[in-house]
Amino acid sequence: MRILAVGCHPDDVEIACAGTLAKCVKRGDKVIVCHASSGDLGHVIIPPDELKVIRAEEARRAGALAGIEVIYGGFNDLDIFDNNKQSRDKMVDVIKYADPDLIITHNPDDYMPDHTAVSRLVFDASFTATLPNYKSREKKAAKLVPIYYMDTLAGVNFIPTDFVDITEEIDLKIKMLNCHESQIVWMRDHDHIDFPDMVKTCSRYRGYQCGAEYAEGFRQCQAYLKGTSKRLLP
Ligand SMILES: [Zn+2]
Repeated sequence: MRILAVGCHPDDVEIACAGTLAKCVKRGDKVIVCHASSGDLGHVIIPPDELKVIRAEEARRAGALAGIEVIYGGFNDLDIFDNNKQSRDKMVDVIKYADPDLIITHNPDDYMPDHTAVSRLVFDASFTATLPNYKSREKKAAKLVPIYYMDTLAGVNFIPTDFVDITEEIDLKIKMLNCHESQIVWMRDHDHIDFPDMVKTCSRYRGYQCGAEYAEGFRQCQAYLKGTSKRLLP
């Protein structure tokens, strides 16, 4: 299978579903992670142009640890709007390039506008990308496939319908997260949290909900043509 996970900022996918993606690679899937935004505003001191370069390298290293291809969606922080053709076309090309059998992205009501815009863009583009006569940069149309929404930050307002046991992947997940060094400092200074501790605790909490030591939770997007009778998550 081919899996596309679209997160907003470099590190969002690591927080919510890196364990699941690592497990997908282990079972032989091709996994592509798209970080929609460069993450250029995610620091108190480092200016945007410098931070972009640092975060692209952090993201590449995190993906490499799990055998994941990492691509960039072409947006910047707080500059993602889902209701225009230019933005949708960027996401259409990400989906056409990845040609996935399963898409994972943000829950539609996560905590900040970039996350909700990315969720909406992925939903809208996932249909548009399947039309052979719709013109965009990538030529080949993608398939109509299910979307799974990944957990929100700290699991707020999110009741999973599907769980993935990541007990064997939790250490790798935290290693991937630790690649995002600039964000560990940022979250300590701006949000006053211990980032790896938060992520490990949330994975443990989801584990308690499904009888595993550590787990990640998902919700399947319920929409016409997005249903399946198969278990696609590992
Ligand atoms: Zn984010």
